[in-house]
Amino acid sequence: MLSNDIKEIKGIGTKYEKILKEKGINKVEDLIRFTPKSYNIYKISNVLDIDFEMNVTINGMVISSVGLISRMKAAVFSIESCNQKIKVVGFGMDYLRFKLKKGLEYTFFGLYRPNERTLYLKNVFFEDFKEYIEPIYPINISNKILQKLIFDVFKANKPVLNDILPKSIRDKYNLMEYNEYIYKSHFPKCEDDIARTSYRRRYEAYLLYNIRLESLRYYYDTYRKEPKIFDYNKVLELIRGLSFKLTDDQMNAVNVILSEMRGEHPLNRLIQGDVGSGKTIVAFIALYANYLSGYVGAMMVPSEVLSYQHYAKALRLFESFGIRVELLNSSIKASKRKEILRDLNDGKIDIIIGTQSLFSLDVNYNKLGLVVIDEQHRFGVMQRQALINKGIHTDSLFLTATPIPRTLGISRFADLDITTIETKPQNRHDVLTKVCRCTDLEFICKAIYKNVSKGHQVFVVVPLIEESVDDGIYTIERALDELKPHLDSVRFETLHGSMKNKDEVMERFKNHEFDVLISTTVIEVGIDIRNATLMIIYNADRFGLSTLHQLRGRVGRNDLISGCILASNKDNERLSIMESTYDCFKLSELDLKMRGAGDLLGVSQSGFIKDNIISDIDTFNMAKADAHELYLAYLNGDKSDIVRGVIENENEINKLN
Ligand code: ADP
Ligand code: MG
Repeated sequence: MLSNDIKEIKGIGTKYEKILKEKGINKVEDLIRFTPKSYNIYKISNVLDIDFEMNVTINGMVISSVGLISRMKAAVFSIESCNQKIKVVGFGMDYLRFKLKKGLEYTFFGLYRPNERTLYLKNVFFEDFKEYIEPIYPINISNKILQKLIFDVFKANKPVLNDILPKSIRDKYNLMEYNEYIYKSHFPKCEDDIARTSYRRRYEAYLLYNIRLESLRYYYDTYRKEPKIFDYNKVLELIRGLSFKLTDDQMNAVNVILSEMRGEHPLNRLIQGDVGSGKTIVAFIALYANYLSGYVGAMMVPSEVLSYQHYAKALRLFESFGIRVELLNSSIKASKRKEILRDLNDGKIDIIIGTQSLFSLDVNYNKLGLVVIDEQHRFGVMQRQALINKGIHTDSLFLTATPIPRTLGISRFADLDITTIETKPQNRHDVLTKVCRCTDLEFICKAIYKNVSKGHQVFVVVPLIEESVDDGIYTIERALDELKPHLDSVRFETLHGSMKNKDEVMERFKNHEFDVLISTTVIEVGIDIRNATLMIIYNADRFGLSTLHQLRGRVGRNDLISGCILASNKDNERLSIMESTYDCFKLSELDLKMRGAGDLLGVSQSGFIKDNIISDIDTFNMAKADAHELYLAYLNGDKSDIVRGVIENENEINKLN
C-alpha cells in the first residue's frame, strides 16, 4: 500500500499528481513523509503580551474606514484591541473595503510588529472563531486539501514505517516514535505536539548530518597521500611578481595551504572571506605549487560566466611560466572538448578551469593533485566529492564568501578545516545601500546617470528572463524598456543564462564597451568588474540574504565609492538588514537567526521550524556527541541501522564516479 503510486489515492487527479511528482512525491509513502514546513496557530492572543515580532490572532474592533494603497492593492485601517489602537495593513486584500464594517468586531491573523504597533494581515475571520492549527505545506496545493488527502490515507490503512532512531536515543531525549511523529506533524492537536515533532525532526537531521561528518573525518584522518614536493622560493617569486602585495590574511592562508599540501594527509580546507577579499589569487598560488610538484590542478566554479573570467585571469598569470591552462564548460565545442579530454587523460594540461563539466563521467585525469572549488556553498557534497575522487593524491581547497556563523561554534565544518580571511585589501569602502520602490524610476535613473557620467559602470539584476503571471516582477526586457528612454546617452546590454555568447558580453563589459549590464542572477557570484560602482537589484525581496550580499559584492571592488539600490515593492526585513549590515560574518549570523541552523547546514529537508536558535545549537551539540558515540560503536562492530544507512548512502555517492 505504501509503495502504491499516488495517483491511486482517491482525490488525486492529473493536476495534483503532476504537482506532487514535481516535488519528488511519487508513492503513498512519500506523501505521508512530506511533512509541513511550518504551522499557523490560530489562538487568540492579547496584544499587550507580545513584545517581539510574531504571527498572532487577535480580536479587534474596526475603528476607522478602510483605506487603500491602490498600487499594492493594500487595505489599510485601524482597530482597537485590548484598548490598544493598532494599524492593520493587508497587502493584496483591497476587497476588505467592502467586507469590513466600522464599529464591528472581527478576528484577525497576521504578523504583528509591536514596535510599529502594526499588524500585517494574512487572514480575517468574519464569523465565529474557533481555535485551530493549520499546517503549511511547501507546495502549490492548498493546505486544507493536502491535509485531507493525507488524512484519508491514514484513515484507510494505518501506515507503519521503520524508525531509524535507536530506542535508546529516543528514550534518552524522550523523542516521539517515528510513526507518531509523522502523524502528529500532519495533525497536531496542540502547540506541544508541534514542539515535540519539531524537536524530533531537528534532532534527527542533526544526528544524520553529524554521522556523515564522523564518517568523512574518519576517512580523511586515515587516508594518506603522497606529499607534494615543490620549491617554495619559486612560489615566492610568483607572489612578488603580482601587481599588488598580498594582505597578511592572504599570506597566512597561502602558508597554511602549502604546508598541508606538503603533508601526508590530504589538504581539506575551506577558505572563508568576504566578497572581494581576494580568495582567487590564494587559490591560484596553490595551483601553482601543485603544478611545481608535477601534478594537474582543477578549479571548479558554479557558473559558466565565472569560468570564463577565472580562465582569462589564470591565463594572464600563468602564461609567462609556460603553464598550459584550459577551460571546460558546457559551451565548449565538441571537437575542442574531445581534445581537452584526451590531453587531460594524457596529463598534457597543467591547470583546468571549468564548471560541473569537470566531473562528468568521461573526464579522466592523469595525476590530479589539487581540486579547488570556488563558491563551495553552491555545490552539493556529491558534486564536490565526485571531482575529488578523480584523483588519488588529491588535495582539496574550498572557497566561500558565505561563512559558517561563529555562534555555531564549529571549527571544522563537514570534513573541512577552516581558514578565515578577515581583512580586505586596503582602501575598500562599504557599498552604500539604499532601499527604494521598483517604481522610483527617477531615483534609479539618476543614480545610473551619476555613475555612468563619472565613467563608471552599472549592474542591473532582475529575477526573471521571461514574463510571468505575477506582473509585479521584473524581466530583463521590462527593466530595459523602463530605463532606456530616460538615459539617452547610456549604453545598455543584456545577459542571461541561456545566451550562447555570455563570455563575449562579459568581455565587452570588462572593456567598458557599454555602461549598464542588465542581467539575471548569472552574475551573482565571483564576477570581478573593477570599474563597476553601482548595483541595482529589482524585486530584491525575492532574494535571500546571502544572494543579496553576493550580488552587492559585485561592486566596491576598488577604491571608488560604490552603491547598491535594492528596489522592492514589498517591505522586507532582509532589505533593512542589508541597508545597515555590510560584513559577511554579521550577515551570516543574522541569516542563521532568520532561517535556523538546519537550513544553513544543508540538513533541512521538507521542513524546519524556526525556533529559538539557542536551543538549536544545544540540540546540535547533543546530536554531535551522540553521532560520535554511534560511529565509534559502528567501528567496533555494532552494525546499527542508522550509521549503516548513512554510509551506504555515501557509497552511492562514491559510485557516481
Ligand atoms: P573574492 O574573494 O570575492 O573571490 P577576488 O579574488 O575576485 O575576490 O578579488 C577581488 C579583487 O581584488 C580582484 O580584482 C583581485 O585582483 C584584487 N585583489 C586581490 N588581492 C588583493 C590585494 N592584496 N591587494 C589589492 N587587490 C587585491
Ligand atoms: Mg571569488
